[in-house]
Amino acid sequence: MDDKHHDDTRAIHDDEREDAPEHAGVFPLFMTSSFGSESVEEGARIARGGGEGYLYTRMGNPTTDRWVKRIAQLEGAVEGCAVGSGMAAITGAVMHLVRAGENLVAANMLYSGTYRLFRDILPRYGIECRFANLRDFDEVESRIDDKTRILYFESPDNPLLRMYDAEKVVEFAHAHGLKAVFDNTFNTPLLFRPLEWGVDVVVHSATKYLAGHGHVIGGIILGRDAELMHAIRHETAYNFGATLSPFNAWLLMLSAETLPVRMRRHSENALAVAGFLEGHSQVEWVNYPGLPSHPEHELARKYLPDGCGGMITFGLKGGKDACVKTLDSVKLVTHQVSLGDTKSLLMHPYSIMFETLPDDERSAIGILPEMLRLSVGMEDAADIIADLQQALG
Ligand SMILES: *Cc1c(COP(=O)(O)O)cnc(C)c1O
Repeated sequence: MDDKHHDDTRAIHDDEREDAPEHAGVFPLFMTSSFGSESVEEGARIARGGGEGYLYTRMGNPTTDRWVKRIAQLEGAVEGCAVGSGMAAITGAVMHLVRAGENLVAANMLYSGTYRLFRDILPRYGIECRFANLRDFDEVESRIDDKTRILYFESPDNPLLRMYDAEKVVEFAHAHGLKAVFDNTFNTPLLFRPLEWGVDVVVHSATKYLAGHGHVIGGIILGRDAELMHAIRHETAYNFGATLSPFNAWLLMLSAETLPVRMRRHSENALAVAGFLEGHSQVEWVNYPGLPSHPEHELARKYLPDGCGGMITFGLKGGKDACVKTLDSVKLVTHQVSLGDTKSLLMHPYSIMFETLPDDERSAIGILPEMLRLSVGMEDAADIIADLQQALG
């Protein structure tokens, strides 16, 4: 790797100079399902995974590989696997590492889709998930047995934005012979590189900041161990078939170039908006890791020194009714799921992300009716604040 260049440059250029066909300024979109072979011998060599060349886009595609290489370079990964969505990344990584009859331990707050996959779907395949508070290692220890294979977490988590001491969690995992798997969607490699802290496998929803414009569904799995990643890639893409479209990879490639600039702007805007919300009379509490009031602000200073990203969660004094009124009243900010877009998006996790969970389970994990989640976009912070001001009343 070329250590001479900084992140802003490495988001735009490969470490080694690599020319595109016809010296194209933008690497071309290979929108093709398959590739011809010069000879049977050559086709057979590629099919066995022997070196350069392509056969079939489910197994590999030049445009997709370019994007994977770019993100792997930023994340400090040896290899990656592009997939059709963030959920495909999570499913691919977890189903490779945990087999029927085995189990995983996961943080008790996770992205709602992951939470439901672990709670309701994986058990149907003989994979049990045990949720634990990763701040309490006695509790985590009590969940582990000789069939436990991975420790799975996000930090900050979605949607509460609480943080974990990633270094300690990883240490604990390795001391117990478990692989640490981390969802880095909220941070992107620009703000946090889990692999450098010992995490074994990183997953991303590329739909969010990696895409950045709300225009693509995609995902990626990244790791430090080439052999493991090769196996994950083969199983997830080739066998399960969770392929990313080359067109989406091509769009994601363009998004990668602006990722550093976008993450800075999201972080700056979110800090300003979080400060505003904290001072508002209708706001009961604000969770933003960059605010000194955040319960894990010290961890944010350790793990997110370059900015805490664009996500804020806050509670309104008027409860669910006040949330509904605010969502009905915003004009610039949009009432919309997803996150990480150039546009600011506001949503009510209690109604939209965790709507199928029983009330007592929702409150036990901290999904409260008075809570809103805001993905702070790249508009002028003053305009976002003015819109929230008029909507909060
Ligand atoms: C959105 C999200 C996912 C799921 O990604 P999709 O691309 O929607 O499948 C996973 N993890 C986190 C933290 C997310 O925000």
